[in-house]
Amino acid sequence: MAIIIDGKKCSEEIRNELKQKTEELIKSKGIKPGLALLLVGDNPASALYVKNKAKACEEIGYNSVIVELPEDTSEKTVLNYIEKWNKDESIHGILVQLPLPKQINEQKVILSILPEKDVDGFHPINMGRLVLGLPGFIPCTPAGIQYLLNKYEIPLKGKHVVVVGRSNIVGKPIANLLYQKNSKANAIVTICHTATNDITYYTRQADVLIAAVGVPRLIKSESIKDGATIIDVGINRIKDASTKTGYRLVGDVDYNDVYNKIHAITPVPGGVGPMTIAMLLRNTYLSAVGLDKYE
Ligand code: NAP
Repeated sequence: MAIIIDGKKCSEEIRNELKQKTEELIKSKGIKPGLALLLVGDNPASALYVKNKAKACEEIGYNSVIVELPEDTSEKTVLNYIEKWNKDESIHGILVQLPLPKQINEQKVILSILPEKDVDGFHPINMGRLVLGLPGFIPCTPAGIQYLLNKYEIPLKGKHVVVVGRSNIVGKPIANLLYQKNSKANAIVTICHTATNDITYYTRQADVLIAAVGVPRLIKSESIKDGATIIDVGINRIKDASTKTGYRLVGDVDYNDVYNKIHAITPVPGGVGPMTIAMLLRNTYLSAVGLDKYE
């Protein structure tokens, strides 16, 4: 029987721990972690993500500020909010929900966030620190993946990790995290993408396969090695007339097809997904106390 890596449970554990730490922080230092969330436009998925992040903040005792702006908002307006929050001492983390409308330059917006408040870890300074193995904010989904691998004691040292997908928010940062020379990583990492001729050639060698592609059930059992650990990052909606909503969520890996061949797997939903918000909360706490003071 394969181990099902329970991201929901791990996420709850992290949130409970942060809730306790926050109570202590408020009592001892009078500091209440604060997160500012900016949403531009009316994408329902983005609106739901922002709402869930704010709710999660409230549940563990953080302050959260949500600003929702219309689709035709100018870049200048967005930059003005960031400038204001950069200077506001009660705001420890700034999150701009991506994607942004066309008229707003995403990179310019990310660059305008103070790296010390960049709890998404997307600023080039934080990305650079990650590559160099220096302390900094690690993007939330990759941080969550590493947490799960370590928590479930999946061996990484000298093991072959194959990452399918090279996005800035998942593929690149997780690959860079897992080859670092430290006790939480030290793997040999290969990255595949759309220019990879024969993905299966690589995925079959993977002790740990991380799929962050966005193609429903792309990875089948013939593409994996016996006893591999599978981290399925994909969240894909597929039609399903048997559900109330008419759709359901599946990953990038064909869960039922691979299940009997593997050592462990993250389910979709309930695997990597819940870890993203937990790591956002953790980064916000880190920002409030100082990156070096988190134990
Ligand atoms: P993305 O920016 O669209 O990147 C997808 C990557 O997959 C690209 O590097 C692309 O290659 C590669 N790719 C696409 N089709 C491929 C194929 N057939 N074979 C090989 N490589 C292929 O996506 P993302 O933002 O990383 O997200 C990936 C998935 O994870 C999505 O389903 C998303 O919803 C999900 N996600 C989940 C969480 C979470 O919290 N669990 C967080 C973020 C994302 P090229 O670079 O060559 O185009």
